[in-house]
Amino acid sequence: MKVIPARLRSLQARFTAVAEEVLRPHAARVDQEAQWPATSFAALADAGLMGLHVPKRLGGLEEGFSALVMATETLAQACASSALCYGMHCVGSAVIAAKATRDQEERYLAPIAQGRHITTLALSEAGHGAHAYLADTELRQDGLDYRVCGTKQFVTNGSHADSYVVSTQASESNEQGEFSCVLVDKTAAGLSWLEPWNGMGLRGNSSRGLRLDDVRVPRANRLGDEGDEVWYFFQIVAPYFLTAMAGTYNGIAQAALANALAHMRERTFSRSGESLAHADMIQDKVGALWARVQQARLLAYHAAELADANDPDALPAILACKVGAGEMAVEVTTETMTLCGGAAYRDNAVQARLLRDAHAAPVMSPTSALLRLWTGRLLLGLPIL
Ligand SMILES: Cc1cc2nc3c(=O)[nH]c(=O)nc-3n(C[C@H](O)[C@H](O)[C@H](O)COP(=O)(O)OP(=O)(O)OC[C@H]3O[C@@H](n4cnc5c(N)ncnc54)[C@H](O)[C@@H]3O)c2cc1C
Repeated sequence: MKVIPARLRSLQARFTAVAEEVLRPHAARVDQEAQWPATSFAALADAGLMGLHVPKRLGGLEEGFSALVMATETLAQACASSALCYGMHCVGSAVIAAKATRDQEERYLAPIAQGRHITTLALSEAGHGAHAYLADTELRQDGLDYRVCGTKQFVTNGSHADSYVVSTQASESNEQGEFSCVLVDKTAAGLSWLEPWNGMGLRGNSSRGLRLDDVRVPRANRLGDEGDEVWYFFQIVAPYFLTAMAGTYNGIAQAALANALAHMRERTFSRSGESLAHADMIQDKVGALWARVQQARLLAYHAAELADANDPDALPAILACKVGAGEMAVEVTTETMTLCGGAAYRDNAVQARLLRDAHAAPVMSPTSALLRLWTGRLLLGLPIL
């Protein structure tokens, strides 16, 4: 089913080539060795795909939400860890691009478009958990600079990215809001990485805790104004992050279903000589699973198109599309595991990896419970928080 907008098909062909030629052959090793996918990033850079959200005048592709859904679902079909890592880079670059100064364009966005710079989000903190829009990390004015103190958890691309989009308390009270956002370079003194997180799935994402111990950050690295919190969470971070995650989980489910279809066509029984594909109950199940996958994909592309058009109704659709994709991926990977039987229930089987990858969906913030709550509030005309 062609749910991908026609205008994105040639770009999709470039992502598919990288996914099939580079990501797929490395996916098992990335998972088994919990190895950050350096090879995937090198191939995406060589293919000119790192600047997805960077303006064309800076060498980027200047694409929006629909392209992000397409890119992450295409990559996730081959290697979900790579899709998550690339998605977080894209979200980080969209946050930078949203209100970039000329200096930030030159120092961050142009190198991102050239494939020479990886960025990522460092928002979550242990004290706020799933409420990743909150931050205790302190931002203190120090002459012409800032000082940043705090600890972030679960930083995807942790220690491999060149810069980190860090949420903080605002350094001064003002009418705009309580929180700010700064870019911290990986070379800044006072950064230290905590133990790598050994996840059940998405094991190549190098998700780590980051300690910021009185880290000096130039004022020029502040994103937007002091206290500019809403644009970086609900206007930029959440929409880009949620569409990236919806694409990733939709890709995981498509891979699980494709894998199961191949198994059911090939697995034959000696008495009947027929394959599993000939059983009525299997055909019924396949029909239902296919429809679940397509529903989630259609909602993701619909939400992304609304967001690309700046439609005022985009936000509820975006919140709902991550819920839809995440819950569908857990269901589809569980059902396809059953359909593939003992062949899939091995610790190194592709189907087992996809099931573990899908199970990050209910854990990663914003979780389904919070997203449904926010969607309901928006539809009822109530404040989102
Ligand atoms: C693979 C992976 C990659 C990640 N990458 C990043 C990253 O790159 N950058 C980043 O900043 N973060 C990242 N995170 C962090 C993530 O998005 C969450 O912040 C984190 O998973 C929250 O974990 P927690 O255990 O502290 O949740 P908790 O806050 O302890 O929540 C546990 C459960 O309680 C529920 N809950 C909490 N509060 C309420 C409430 N008031 N009402 C109802 N239910 C509630 C939650 O929905 C959740 O189901 C990543 C996480 C994972 C798993």
